[in-house]
Amino acid sequence: MTFISAENGDFPHWFEGSEYMHRVARAIAQYGPIARTTLAQLLGLSQGALSRITSDLIYAGVIEELPADTVARGPLPQGFTPKESSDRRGRPQTALALCENARTFVGIKVHGTSAVAAAVNAHGKVVSSRHERALTDQSPADVTAAIAALVSECQADIATTTLPAPTAVGIAVGGHVERDAIVTFAPFLHWDDAVDLKSMAERATGLPCNIYNDIDSLLVDASWFGPGVGLETFAVVTIGVGVGYSLAIHGEPVTYPDKSYGLVGHVLVDPEGPECVAGHRGCAECLTDNSIASQYSQIIGQACGFDRFVADARAGVPQAVRLVNRTCFRLGTLIATVANLAMPSKVMIAGESAFLAKMGADCVRDGIRRYRHSQAAPVQFTVVDHDWQLWAKAAAARVIARYIG
Ligand SMILES: [Zn+2]
Repeated sequence: MTFISAENGDFPHWFEGSEYMHRVARAIAQYGPIARTTLAQLLGLSQGALSRITSDLIYAGVIEELPADTVARGPLPQGFTPKESSDRRGRPQTALALCENARTFVGIKVHGTSAVAAAVNAHGKVVSSRHERALTDQSPADVTAAIAALVSECQADIATTTLPAPTAVGIAVGGHVERDAIVTFAPFLHWDDAVDLKSMAERATGLPCNIYNDIDSLLVDASWFGPGVGLETFAVVTIGVGVGYSLAIHGEPVTYPDKSYGLVGHVLVDPEGPECVAGHRGCAECLTDNSIASQYSQIIGQACGFDRFVADARAGVPQAVRLVNRTCFRLGTLIATVANLAMPSKVMIAGESAFLAKMGADCVRDGIRRYRHSQAAPVQFTVVDHDWQLWAKAAAARVIARYIG
């Protein structure tokens, strides 16, 4: 296995400019289409200073002006109310928006059995078909070959459109990634040593590639282009093969060197829950597919897999429905713990088994309420339908965030 000390200082930027120029571009990507006056208030810039910056960005082909009355405005940050313009005689207001079709990117999500890819435009919208490659042995070389094949397929899709060829590739894996380059822990791929996946992918694709933790990618995608835009604090909880959690403050993932080791997996959610492999009773491991399958096997008295449990739950088999409800109550408990300690404005529930939270939404709410003060506001949560393509798109969103700077 290879270990190369990669430096990640050479990833391309859309434009070279001052920190303010990057802040303006970021704000337009997240909140656009947005009026100039609103943007100036939001960033605390004078109209003159903002105009100089936006002229440079328009000249660089990063943003464009749209007639304000013909486009839907983007979201605004939580707690921000634009002041009404006192000058009603002025020129008609225009709205500033990112030139979303000026660049494309490829996003890839590598999970245990396959890798899924999609091309997106600069606004994180999918502009290709969904592409998937099965992994044969999960080795770094196997994963790299799948990445190269997927990038070619996305490039071929883009070549049939008027969009520009992809600029860069974002790759998401479950586990720990250092300097957006080196995978040091990837439990679902069974990699034991550090792997310089960035260098391997760049050699194989000929494009700049960055490697990211998958849950952080979902968080950044939601914070730039989804339900987390403008929120002061935003959390993601994922359930599926594993349990995951990440937190963003003002759109930036909280940095904590150990967060990708699945630390939320053993948080207590039910003192009467099943025992996990580490010997805890009722920890969050009971929300994983494997644990649910073994709990269901015990309930019905015969060994069965997670798929059988889901089929029974959908068919309304009472034991399965009760286990869905109990699982959702436990998930609600976990969300209450997250909400009580991290105080997010919203929690996004994602992952392969997030659909369970829709099947038992009332039980999720009951679980949350059980651990909240009666006068505390209900925790806002949103459930995202699972699709690996969303995770692939999220990897591309991180590259976009990096590219805009
Ligand atoms: Zn445990």
